[in-house]
Amino acid sequence: MAEKLYIILPCYNEEEILFRSAERVREVLRSLVSQAEDPVSPESRILFVDDGSKDGTWDIIASLHEEDHVYSGLKLAKNYGHQTAIFAGMEAALKEGADCMVTIDADLQQDINALPEFLGKMREGADIVYGIRDSRDTDGFFKRSTATMYYGLMNALGVHIIPQSADYRLMTSRAVAALSEYKEHNLFIRGLVPDIGFKSDSVYFHVSRREAGSSKYTLKKMISLALDGITSFSIQPLRLVFMFGILAFLVSLVMMGLTIYDHVRGATVPGWSTLTISIWLLGGVQLLSLGILGEYIGRTYMESKRRPRYFVSVLLSDDPGEGKAGNGNDRGSR
Ligand code: UDP
Ligand code: MG
Repeated sequence: MAEKLYIILPCYNEEEILFRSAERVREVLRSLVSQAEDPVSPESRILFVDDGSKDGTWDIIASLHEEDHVYSGLKLAKNYGHQTAIFAGMEAALKEGADCMVTIDADLQQDINALPEFLGKMREGADIVYGIRDSRDTDGFFKRSTATMYYGLMNALGVHIIPQSADYRLMTSRAVAALSEYKEHNLFIRGLVPDIGFKSDSVYFHVSRREAGSSKYTLKKMISLALDGITSFSIQPLRLVFMFGILAFLVSLVMMGLTIYDHVRGATVPGWSTLTISIWLLGGVQLLSLGILGEYIGRTYMESKRRPRYFVSVLLSDDPGEGKAGNGNDRGSR
């Protein structure tokens, strides 16, 4: 049983590196197809998802497809972000009848040569194989420390994501079908996948430096991913707000006692500093709490609209049954 494997690469303005990556992935796939023992199906594909790039990324994908039909392409209608791009790729691969799929960044910072190991784990029975980075020494100090802090925070909030797992992972079609049952708009795949269940395993891989181009994960995108991760998996921050409230109430009882005591003593005019401090402190805590509430309410609001997650503008594949346009939300269950 030769599995039909899809290797999915989300690309956002990756023209500088795409040819190089495409070649390397094709080599790995070729050797998997031609190996004597347990080859993968020759129908396996390399699927590039163009996440609304503004440079020549799509032209490169189109020319790669022209040159060799092992390359296929999915062009999203605009930039939706890494998580949605991966998801769109997986849903497309599912529709094309892939048995299993691996997602990997287009810059191939994650080691593509670990791919056979992923397949091995799948053949041993895993539906999900996580890629876990062996170290973070190629990241800058800022990214490394914020990532460590973030994983720590997530853990403290009771969100169990596999630490140091990037979005380099293998999933079988069964697991992807389960994932696409999750209807939320704010996709935080790293958190959703462990939630699915199924048998999972992991593979360690090495992260290298980006060979060309620059990081497409801007600080803004990172913060938004981080917030999505927390708010879609934990309501601990809301509980914390409640705790703040109780604490403030207790303090206010003490203050009330003190105030009455001062009043009885006739020393009401001093106490200006206490007053000012409490105004600022309580005001601050209230604003912070409102902010946290706002994050959740805002997301509830956005989710309640049930907007489509993404639209596909072009699909390049050699499957004659597939149309040129469609959207990723036609599961008809809404
Ligand atoms: N990416 C994407 N959409 C975005 C931002 C990034 O599809 O809005 C892709 C990007 O092309 C790359 C992957 O996500 O394949 C990871 O991005 P990058 O390598 O820039 O992030 P870093 O490795 O610096 O965390
Ligand atoms: Mg990268």
